[in-house]
Amino acid sequence: MTTLETGPTTNAGATFDSLDPGTGEVVGSYPVQGAEAVAETVERARAAAKWWSGLSFAERRTHLDAWAGVITRRIGQLAEVMHAETGKPHTDAQLEIVLALDHLAWAAKHASKVLGRKRVPSGISMVDHAATVEYLPRGVIGVIGPWNYPVFTPMGSIAYALAAGNAVVFKPSEFTPGVGAWLVDAFAQVVPEHPVLQLVTGFGLTGEALCRAGVDKLAFTGSTATAKLVMAACADTLTPVLIEAGGKDALLVDADADLDAAADAALWGGMANAGQTCIGTERVYVHERVFDQFQAKLSALAGTVRAGTDPGAQIGPMTMPTQSAVVRTHVLDAIERGGRAVVGGPDVVGDRLVQPTILVDVPEDSLAVTEETFGPTLTVARVRDMDEAVELTNASRYGLGSAVFSKRRGVELARRIRSGMTAVNSVIAFAAIPSLPFGGVGESGFGRIHGQDGLKEFANAKAVARRRMPALMALTSFSRTAKTDKIMATIATLRHGRGLNEPPFVSPLRLPRQAR
Ligand code: NAD
Repeated sequence: MTTLETGPTTNAGATFDSLDPGTGEVVGSYPVQGAEAVAETVERARAAAKWWSGLSFAERRTHLDAWAGVITRRIGQLAEVMHAETGKPHTDAQLEIVLALDHLAWAAKHASKVLGRKRVPSGISMVDHAATVEYLPRGVIGVIGPWNYPVFTPMGSIAYALAAGNAVVFKPSEFTPGVGAWLVDAFAQVVPEHPVLQLVTGFGLTGEALCRAGVDKLAFTGSTATAKLVMAACADTLTPVLIEAGGKDALLVDADADLDAAADAALWGGMANAGQTCIGTERVYVHERVFDQFQAKLSALAGTVRAGTDPGAQIGPMTMPTQSAVVRTHVLDAIERGGRAVVGGPDVVGDRLVQPTILVDVPEDSLAVTEETFGPTLTVARVRDMDEAVELTNASRYGLGSAVFSKRRGVELARRIRSGMTAVNSVIAFAAIPSLPFGGVGESGFGRIHGQDGLKEFANAKAVARRRMPALMALTSFSRTAKTDKIMATIATLRHGRGLNEPPFVSPLRLPRQAR
């Protein structure tokens, strides 16, 4: 287990243990940091931000590429820490790291082009000015992360915030502090000069302290319920927030879909990481013409997936023991309301290990359809056509990701789904494409990580209008004349007033006295 440098704590000596969810064994112990320690960390970050923001994009890229190099060379070690703290298979942990590295490299490479100073048109009325815009670092970004993808998820904020020139204070989930410590330690090795990326550890109160510590933006990833608390805490200091919250993603299967590919994707989308995926598939809507065929294929495939703690298991244990109770409640509620488990069911929901469950005939107002289950379960519903599939998909208060399997209408259906992201004839693909923005609508949150939007999320737009020639018309001066106003009104009418049968507008205040 990696050791960490967290700086002074106010709750002298207070620590918490990080546990292996498969065995309950303690794998690390970390300080519970209070408001004072968090404030001191943010203070140190503020000084570091001055230095980091003073580097050129190219210099920052060199440091970030070096960090990526360290992570890549020690990928096995980091994957082991992830496996120990979340229970996810080692190979899944490795895949998660590789995807995060792609984002780190993209952010480092593209920050200059996306955020650097550029000239923009100044328009006819302001032709005597030159206009430029650039995106400047905000300062210190607080990042609060979840445990389910303890590298990929926070790195979606951390990598982009650093590439944009900010310092970062990272509070990982209390279930995965060792992963957070590992990332921060690795960064300190390549950037030893200043604490540009720092760690604070603890529970919800530590996160709340970070919200109140005067950071320049707070990037939160976690549940919708916690997101509301984060927003409330940030409201006191008018700290802007980026919210990446929960989801209830649907996968749609059209009558002409490749059913083998759709079944494979639904199973992986629903069961990978034991269903503990914000953009995991939780609901499947299938055209009635292919429902029986699809369901048979899905059920047969599901028999090949097993949860366990041994290396042969495709999915690991539930990371949070309390999540099993949520999964059990959803499955029982679905069955009480007339649903059927065609694979698994309440009996396969153990305290740590939950085996795959596939539910059919589940009413749309059941918990398994309306609430985030966050376990290896799928509801599969028959729809009369794809309009009904889109309607039911969009009935959720969440709107994070989604997927469509259709040969002819994939993109058309994707565009009609109310979600931040949609994969067509695949699942989750959008998360692995660094140039695509990632984020949701509704109770899934707002703001975007990844891509150009993700870089701009951590920057302030700075607009500069520079006079480049003497004024053609004095518009912003009390010396403005009636003639100027008339010219302006004529130009405005010519440019914007087409199709109107009214005479050009001239302010009566500017008309000659006798004409008023
Ligand atoms: P959570 O909301 O319980 O905790 C997230 C983080 O918030 C943790 O670090 C926690 O310590 C901290 N926290 C708790 N109370 C706080 C408070 N009052 N103020 C500030 N911080 C506080 O979520 P979780 O169980 O760690 O993660 C699972 C959830 O995250 C799921 O709902 C999942 O859908 C969501 N998630 C979303 C995305 C996305 O990109 N949209 C990605 C991954 C996970």
